[in-house]
Amino acid sequence: MSGAILPDRDALPDRDALIAAALAASAHAYAPYSRFKVGAALAFADGSVVTGSNVENASYGLSLCAETVAAARAMSDGLRGGLVAVAVIGAVIGGSADNGGPVLPGQPPVTPCGRCRQILDELAGLGGTDPLIWCAGDEEVLEVRLSELLPHAFRKDNFLG
Ligand SMILES: [Zn+2]
Repeated sequence: MSGAILPDRDALPDRDALIAAALAASAHAYAPYSRFKVGAALAFADGSVVTGSNVENASYGLSLCAETVAAARAMSDGLRGGLVAVAVIGAVIGGSADNGGPVLPGQPPVTPCGRCRQILDELAGLGGTDPLIWCAGDEEVLEVRLSELLPHAFRKDNFLG
């Protein structure tokens, strides 16, 4: 994100706590088709944390990813900009209604899909931030900036001039 504000490391939430929030959110995933449960947690500069889990549909193409659900929840709650970090964890198996289950052994870090990158970019762009994205799997956590996941993002400037 050109000219984006990089969140001060001191202002970032605790990485493992945000991943834990994403894991907890995965407990509410509705994934009867893929059984690939995903949780996401968005952290904002004001301390807000908004979570989401994937919501599948019998019409597969209508399924929603955890990151998209979290971003929609955040925006419908009135949050605009200030997105400083995102945690995503996937391939969660089992678990109860209140706790995320274990991650499939050997699962590599799960990165947001292309659609979710675009949706996160819209939300981040409202505050001009370039959030850190923590992509968690079984053991490894991949840390990347949103701008690294989605360089040359499509933005309003592309059609409004
Ligand atoms: Zn996605």
